[in-house]
Amino acid sequence: MPGKECKRCGACCFVDMIAYATEEDFKRWHTEGRDDILHIIENESSVWAGDHLVSSRNGHSIQRCPFLIMNDDGLYSCTIYDTRPAVCRNFEPGVSRMCPQYEDQ
Ligand code: SF4
Ligand code: SF4
Repeated sequence: MPGKECKRCGACCFVDMIAYATEEDFKRWHTEGRDDILHIIENESSVWAGDHLVSSRNGHSIQRCPFLIMNDDGLYSCTIYDTRPAVCRNFEPGVSRMCPQYEDQ
C-alpha cells in the first residue's frame, strides 16, 4: 500500500527530533565532515523545562528543529535532508497524531 504524501506542513519538525539522533547519525556526520550540523546540535541541544523545550545554551524556548526552514511558497524544507537523522527518515506521513494526515486513516 503506498504511503501518504508529505504535505510539507512542517508540523513533525516543530518537535525536537534532533534529540533522538542516534550514535549512527553522529558517526555519519563526523564521516561526512558535517561540522556545521554538529556545531548547531552542540549549541542548540534542548532540555525539558517542565512543559516546553529550552536551549541548553541560553535557556531560550525552542520552537522547532534548527534545520527547518520555510520557503517562499509557504512550505517547509529540511536543510539537511540528504543526511537527516534516522528518526526523521523513518517517520512516515500519517503515522502519528502530530501529522495532520493522521485523521485521514
Ligand atoms: S532534521 Fe530535518 S526532517 Fe528532521 S526534524 Fe529537523 S527539519 Fe525535520
Ligand atoms: S507533519 Fe506530516 S505532512 Fe507535515 S511535514 Fe510532517 S510528515 Fe509531512
